[in-house]
Amino acid sequence: MSATAGIGVPDGDRSAPPVDVAATERWPATRFDGRSGAGTPVMVLLEGTNLCIEEGGRTERWPVAQTVIRESFEHAPTMVHLPDGATLEVRDPRRTLPAALRGAGRSESLVVRMQRRWPAVLLATVALVAGLSWTYAVGLPAFADRIAQWMPYRVEAGVGAPLLKSLDYYVFRPSALPRDRREAIARMFEEAARRSAPDVPVRLEFRGGDANALALPGGVIVLLDELTEVAQDDDQLLGILAHELGHVVHRHPMRQVTQAIGLFAIAGVLWGDVSAIAANATAILGAMHYSRGFEHEADAFALALLQREGRSALALDAVFARLAERVQSEGGALPEFLSTHPETDERRERLRARGAGATRARPAGALD
Ligand SMILES: [Zn+2]
Repeated sequence: MSATAGIGVPDGDRSAPPVDVAATERWPATRFDGRSGAGTPVMVLLEGTNLCIEEGGRTERWPVAQTVIRESFEHAPTMVHLPDGATLEVRDPRRTLPAALRGAGRSESLVVRMQRRWPAVLLATVALVAGLSWTYAVGLPAFADRIAQWMPYRVEAGVGAPLLKSLDYYVFRPSALPRDRREAIARMFEEAARRSAPDVPVRLEFRGGDANALALPGGVIVLLDELTEVAQDDDQLLGILAHELGHVVHRHPMRQVTQAIGLFAIAGVLWGDVSAIAANATAILGAMHYSRGFEHEADAFALALLQREGRSALALDAVFARLAERVQSEGGALPEFLSTHPETDERRERLRARGAGATRARPAGALD
């Protein structure tokens, strides 16, 4: 073997160091050099803090601290890995080598010690399972939610764009609204949005379909044609759009998408892989049913916007009532803003109460 600086000096001199207690025991072993599969029979003994290997008339010494010892299984041979890449397979049926090694300054690994102490193992296992469960159930969603809240809108747009493309393919139809009507609605909404949420980039998209509106990550709000028929006037239409803008302002769409497909899938999107969005577009649409807390936040934003614009704060409640009646009489899916159905009455009560105090002063240039 090749000896390196002070380590494992081959030594034919058998008159060496003082014999201690551990050195009185020898263990038969097989030495594998790591290059050929054939092993060489050797004897192993300890001298002070050195591990000695006797082979023929030669003794090889290695500091015990530089060796790696694996002796985790009760009946398997103890394996000792040497710094030169060789391995010793030590036959130690009485399991005396570990104690001798400890005497030579080698402490067993934590894993080996814990395997001897099953209560500690049980405790560690319970702690590990609890930790992983917590991470999965609470930690990751909370972390993802925090990330979603702080994500720049332009990063969000990388998620919103493929999502809209997918929804265009599977769900939406092109809008049939006349162009001047679309432009007038977009102007009314975008001017109001600029005043109430100046830092939020927002874009209104028109599509054909059932009375509904929804916000996507990146500040895209999609208005479906039939909603413009259900809304009796621009106050009501603006109320619905303001509610969607409230979701955008509070980062609800991104937070919902993150919960639906996970942060890692979104990371994929940011690297240019939109397959997760495309494959989950319908599930994501389903996840756009917000919690009661999210709906209240969006409602509060919409009321404040309507008041700021000098429009009727009662308009939001009025259009919710018309949509709820329509779903009841004609069937069909609940629109986004009514998705917290069991609480709709309580929510409308709140909207009526808060909206009643607001003044109604129609600004010039109203549409209808
Ligand atoms: Zn909503």
